[in-house]
Amino acid sequence: MNGDKIIEVKNVSKWYGSFKVLTDINLTVRKGERIVVCGPSGSGKSTLIRCFNRLEAHQEGEITVNGITLHDRMRNVGDVRKNVGMVFQHFNLFPHMTVLMNCMVGPMWIKGKSEAEARQTALRFLERVRIPEQANKYPVQLSGGQQQRVAIARSLCMQPQIMLFDEPTSALDPEMVSEVLETMTSLAKDGMTMVCVTHEMGFARAVADRVIFMNSGQIVEEGAPQDFFSNPRHERTKLFLSQIL
Ligand code: ADP
Ligand code: MG
Repeated sequence: MNGDKIIEVKNVSKWYGSFKVLTDINLTVRKGERIVVCGPSGSGKSTLIRCFNRLEAHQEGEITVNGITLHDRMRNVGDVRKNVGMVFQHFNLFPHMTVLMNCMVGPMWIKGKSEAEARQTALRFLERVRIPEQANKYPVQLSGGQQQRVAIARSLCMQPQIMLFDEPTSALDPEMVSEVLETMTSLAKDGMTMVCVTHEMGFARAVADRVIFMNSGQIVEEGAPQDFFSNPRHERTKLFLSQIL
């Protein structure tokens, strides 16, 4: 149901060795919500969203994703990851597989789908990101924007409940940014729950329900985009916005 809590983060802290990278993070994401996370480089944005699918472990506090509480001795990390798609800055496609196979292997190997079903799903989502004609090429033969759309399609083939994006347009040539943002916007329109680390403030204004600003491992400020951009409360937020807008 729309509005139910799908990610709940309570008093979470995390260290890399003796370095405290996240300090007392509290955050609730509801089903269908679109969250944009921004903040200076090194503020802990990637670390935070990587905790949501257990690519990173936290040491203090509690994270619950889709009803599963994440902790050290969990046996069902796969159950969490099945429901949480992630798109990275550098696409992370399998270079030795065609676009189609990139999209088929998750459903086949992790969800146990038949090859025929996986193929059908892959083609459907390649249509969805508007590159069905690239299905038989290898990633290296595609532009950056096309590769990122394949990465999005590949995630969608797992039919996740939540999509995490970690600076998905930062590695792209400027002329390819919009095609990826359009794909993300159309996903948002379909009601996907999305947590996006991005500095694309036009996207944040148009799509986000909430913008979260991080600095030095803390959530400093959060608000609806119209408030966040026109009326930032903290000096650190004002400085950040003055540098990127
Ligand atoms: P952001 O995504 O906001 O740029 P990160 O979450 O990548 O920030 O990193 C936050 C801080 O943690 C940085 O100071 C970074 O150098 C450090 N860091 C990130 N990953 C590791 C790691 N695996 N081991 C040690 N330090 C790390
Ligand atoms: Mg990062």
